[in-house]
Amino acid sequence: MNEAISIKSRIAESSPHPLAERLKLTLNYDELSNCIRCGFCQPACPTFKETGLEAASPRGRIALMKAVVDELMVPDSSFVKQMDLCLGCRACEPVCPADVKYGQLLEATRDAIEKHTVHRWWIKPIRKVAFQQLFPHQKRMRLLGSALQLYQRSGIQGLLRKFGVMSLFPETMSQMERILPAASSKGVVEQLGTYVPAKNGLKPIATVGMFRGCIMDVLFTETNLNTVKLLSEAGFDVIIPETQNCCGALHAHSGELEQAKNLARKNIDAFAAAGVDYIISNAGGCGAILVEYGHLLHNDRDYAEAAIRFAENVKDVSQILMEKGHIPKFSMSNGSTGKGEAAITYQDSCHLRNVMKAGNAPRDLMDRIEGAQLVELRGADRCCGSAGIYNLLQPEMSMDILDHKMEHVKETKAHYLLTSNPGCLLQMKLGIEREQMTDHMKAVHIVDFLYEHLAK
Ligand code: SF4
Ligand code: SF4
Repeated sequence: MNEAISIKSRIAESSPHPLAERLKLTLNYDELSNCIRCGFCQPACPTFKETGLEAASPRGRIALMKAVVDELMVPDSSFVKQMDLCLGCRACEPVCPADVKYGQLLEATRDAIEKHTVHRWWIKPIRKVAFQQLFPHQKRMRLLGSALQLYQRSGIQGLLRKFGVMSLFPETMSQMERILPAASSKGVVEQLGTYVPAKNGLKPIATVGMFRGCIMDVLFTETNLNTVKLLSEAGFDVIIPETQNCCGALHAHSGELEQAKNLARKNIDAFAAAGVDYIISNAGGCGAILVEYGHLLHNDRDYAEAAIRFAENVKDVSQILMEKGHIPKFSMSNGSTGKGEAAITYQDSCHLRNVMKAGNAPRDLMDRIEGAQLVELRGADRCCGSAGIYNLLQPEMSMDILDHKMEHVKETKAHYLLTSNPGCLLQMKLGIEREQMTDHMKAVHIVDFLYEHLAK
């Protein structure tokens, strides 16, 4: 991390660099020039906080992109390293007085880098299987769910752990395996059907379309089920369109923009055919790309307008409950623990807060739980280090960030640590396990927590 990048020392060679040429074509120069170099974004940036390096800050990364486009440097491995090290948490955006769209610049840069990267022989097929043949196909995700369920229930998992096989894998991977939730071979549609009416004979407030996600529907099926039931309790008719697919967030953040656009088009068609008033997400990471479909497809003559309309109607489950729902009563007395009181704290989902701008809604809901004392987590708005698959790709930085996060978590002395995104939830579970706090703290998705404490 000591390789500060000196722009002057990397003056472009005379022959055009292919990645530089692509970046010149795809990066929005006006957006790059909008950065007034004030540095207000730096205190918000986790990678700057960890390294203290200008190049690892939002201002530094924008300067690097601009220097490449201005032919002041070639995009060498140090350039790529800093782009990879960015969490994509977008904490730099809300604090920026010039409203620089950093996320869009990063997405375009990563897409260009991916097109010019020659991967090791085994990475290419893994990427192809994951991005093209698995995530976009719900039926194949279901098969993955069945395989994982078999692994978890048949005793294979126990045997591998017993004989220490998992220790042969990188540490973060084996830690992640330990906290992997129980997989399900049946998703939300297979368990509830495609339509769940508003409960208690209420006149429906609106018809909402539930976005079920890809991994979400395999590893967090219970959260999907609870989301639908909670929406129904709050007075919404819920439709779960069967033809929807993965949101494309992982693709867009990993330099697979064309595939992300294909997925976006299919989702727009699926929800338009369902005729819903709102599209509801229960994962900040998915919701953030859904609200950006307008930008993602702005050059698509056939879909640009539909994408804007779609994006305008996307809401997180906590948002729609607070804004429009008949909010049911929640009480700590209704939980499985039977405890009438508990301290709870909340780790923001970066994308819910910084992109969907819905950081208050989950807190407002938590405030309504009778017997729950909400203790604000210091630095809750700072990324936990999960960031999609960042914790697998950049384990060192991810764990440094998590360790700092857990220092603040300990201060809260909370019994429950709630989150609004599956990636954050797993990372928080990992943090709790690493700090050996499992006997007095539990990480839970906010939807599951609310549903468990619903006055039934
Ligand atoms: S806050 Fe915005 S304008 Fe200021 S340095 Fe950061 S990105 Fe540039
Ligand atoms: S997205 Fe997050 S990690 Fe990346 S530059 Fe912005 S604040 Fe820093």
